[in-house]
Amino acid sequence: MISLSAFFDEARQGHLTAIRCGHCAKLAIPPKDLCPACRKREWQTVPLQGTGTITSFTVIRVAPRGRAAAAPYAVALVRLTEGVSLLGRIVDIPTESLAIGQAVTFRPLVEANHTAIGFGPAA
Ligand SMILES: [Zn+2]
Repeated sequence: MISLSAFFDEARQGHLTAIRCGHCAKLAIPPKDLCPACRKREWQTVPLQGTGTITSFTVIRVAPRGRAAAAPYAVALVRLTEGVSLLGRIVDIPTESLAIGQAVTFRPLVEANHTAIGFGPAA
């Protein structure tokens, strides 16, 4: 069973990890306490490829405090190859060229002691 902090530690190293329910085989990311499908707690750790496609995105033009220099940037919901979806910030893709169905690759966004989920152009 991978904890949320272990999930971000792995992400910081560039490894995206999901958990699979040992009871009903549902995949979840980021880690949850109980399986949302069957309410069991039988998680197994599953490494993910980190590849996926954009299913929706929003361009943030007015950034939250402390991120003004980064705006505009996009936040996208990405459906990973393994079938789970994850929200992340888009990096290195111009916001005007973003499209639904576009292929992207996981990229950790490391800032000091904080790691966030990012997605960049497909390799
Ligand atoms: Zn389950």
